[in-house]
Amino acid sequence: GLADKLQETFKKLRGKGKLSETDINEAMREVRMALLEADVNFKVVKDFIAKIKEKAIGQEVMQSLTPAQFVVKIVNDELTALMGGTQSRITVSSRPPTIIMLVGLQGAGKTTTAGKLAHLLKKQSKRPLLVAADIYRPAAIKQLQVLGGQLDIPVFTVDECKDAVLIAQKAVEYATSYARDTVIIDTAGRLHINEDLMQELKSIKTKVKPHEILLVVDAMTGQDSVTVAESFNKDLGLDGVILTKLDGDARGGAALSIKAVTGCPIKFTGMGEKLDALEIFHPDRMASRILGMGDVLSLIEKAGTSIDLEQAKEMEKKLRKDDFNLDDFLSQLQQVRKLGPLDQILGMLPGMGDLKKLKDVEIDEKELTRTEAIIRSMTKKERRDASLINGSRRKRIAMGSGTRVQDVNKLLKQFAEAKKMMKRFQDMQKSGKKSFGGF
Ligand code: GDP
Ligand code: MG
Repeated sequence: GLADKLQETFKKLRGKGKLSETDINEAMREVRMALLEADVNFKVVKDFIAKIKEKAIGQEVMQSLTPAQFVVKIVNDELTALMGGTQSRITVSSRPPTIIMLVGLQGAGKTTTAGKLAHLLKKQSKRPLLVAADIYRPAAIKQLQVLGGQLDIPVFTVDECKDAVLIAQKAVEYATSYARDTVIIDTAGRLHINEDLMQELKSIKTKVKPHEILLVVDAMTGQDSVTVAESFNKDLGLDGVILTKLDGDARGGAALSIKAVTGCPIKFTGMGEKLDALEIFHPDRMASRILGMGDVLSLIEKAGTSIDLEQAKEMEKKLRKDDFNLDDFLSQLQQVRKLGPLDQILGMLPGMGDLKKLKDVEIDEKELTRTEAIIRSMTKKERRDASLINGSRRKRIAMGSGTRVQDVNKLLKQFAEAKKMMKRFQDMQKSGKKSFGGF
């Protein structure tokens, strides 16, 4: 499936220390193919890939993320945005009843969804009323009555009535009289969109003024469902979409294309035939599900921006050789200034609590300038080997940099401390790689 394909693609990036433009292009080619195979609308895919590339290429990779994680994060963010960003809620009328009208082609799942929605609302202590307005098939009315019976929710019907608009109007009157706060109208479908159907739905819309017109579409029909959504939206105007049968082997294309193509958000998804198989649609959760990552992302989210990867690698090498000197210290301090939330990042890694002591080397703008001046007043040799700096040299350095001996002493102490800390951080990072870089 789509999830497997994407994970496969990102797995290939995982081993890389730095991502070149070629790496990203290659990965995006695979993402593109995976999306097209999942039956995502061609134009949607094109725009999507362009956006990802723009964000991924030439950006500094966050030090706390591997390059692969970084790309995955960008893809995840864009997938979420593609599906509407945040959850789209149902309008609730300030003057009950709230009227919800379900429309869609035959077999899409309208009647089943009407039951599921009523069930969901009942669990939220609402008093729904189901309305059987599919007058063309007696079996459809019976089907809704059976569901209503199972849920202990009233089903409004008018015997022998062949006027869907009238039924809908009477149902709203009934709801008002009997304090049912939500009216769910199950309308008739057709095998294909036709003028008769649209005319009937438009009449219901005009007469009962639903607060929500929700299109029920079958996710298994892929791009067809997107086309259907486009025409319903054009002819009738939709407030949202309910995507059914996502529990089957739907390829995901519909979920990813509908919002981008029609502008209508997905509000619920049908995840099975049972009455409790209706889920509120969360774009971010769907994106994570597609990428198969769950909570890892929230960790990434929190990690935020940090040190340039290449410099960090360089530093790691030096530390391994125990070669970390005052020049490195200076550039490190400049990095720290840039990154800000270092302690936050460290705090998220297992066993990193006491690294909070790094706060001791936290510095402000002015102090950085002073530190820089002090280090520049040292000889090259001294910068490489701080142990050469004795008492008289400290005095000279203070004079040369326009600071006080205490400042020089403080800096050397900070340096020693930082060196110790960084070495420990490095060791821990090595042993902690499994839990952090592992997905
Ligand atoms: P309608 O013609 O639009 O009213 O469609 P129905 O509600 O009668 O549903 C058509 C078929 O799809 C029925 O067999 C339902 O059980 C099935 N169905 C509806 N929603 C879902 C779903 O989310 N998942 C699965 N697997 N089947 C569903
Ligand atoms: Mg039906």
